Amino acid sequence: MPEYVIPAPPQAVLPIKGSDAVFPVRRIFCVGRNYAEHAIEMGSDPTREPPFYFTKPADAVVTGGADMPYPPASKELHHEMELVVAIGVGGANIPVADALKHVWGYCCGLDMTRRDLQNAAKKTGRPWDMGKGFDQSAPMGLLVPAAGVDASKGKIELTVNGKVVQTSDLSKLIWSIPEVIANLSELVTLAPGDLIMTGTPEGVAAVQKGDVLEGFVEGVGTIKTKIV
Ligand code: MN
Repeated sequence: MPEYVIPAPPQAVLPIKGSDAVFPVRRIFCVGRNYAEHAIEMGSDPTREPPFYFTKPADAVVTGGADMPYPPASKELHHEMELVVAIGVGGANIPVADALKHVWGYCCGLDMTRRDLQNAAKKTGRPWDMGKGFDQSAPMGLLVPAAGVDASKGKIELTVNGKVVQTSDLSKLIWSIPEVIANLSELVTLAPGDLIMTGTPEGVAAVQKGDVLEGFVEGVGTIKTKIV
């Protein structure tokens, strides 16, 4: 082992339901526009265009129900409630039929978005990174092992201050979880520790400091954070 010239970065981790062990996070991949009604509200055609991806840094995760600070440089912070897939076994060119064997577990996640920066980037053809991959942009709930979870269907919902703002069903994903894993593994070699945020249903909107966001995915769990 070489000696580091600066302190090594801490390993980002996700807590696991019913366990003191934690899941080390390697990379966070996010699927864009994977529910038809959300594609329409973002001004896109929801026909099955190939899935596309952006990323967040691993240390963007916010866990344990911790508060999320309102980020700098934005006046339009949007919530995007999503199912998160945690990869336990890596691979490239994974067949759809084998994809679920690569999943360690699932959790709820929020793909928090500086929509004003993302929209400006879209308009100028520039990268989305500063709209999507900023500090503490990915609050996540407890990870649950995949065994016994059927993530092909089930309600997904988000409330802000107790009012339902996003509600849909995992069965409405344009690209299913096995299809996303197979497609993404043709672009990069997936590795243990990778997370995939699978896209948000319709109803995205701005949040303000003081808002409490509470979401759940049926059969998976819950997520809660307060914007401060
Ligand atoms: Mn998203």
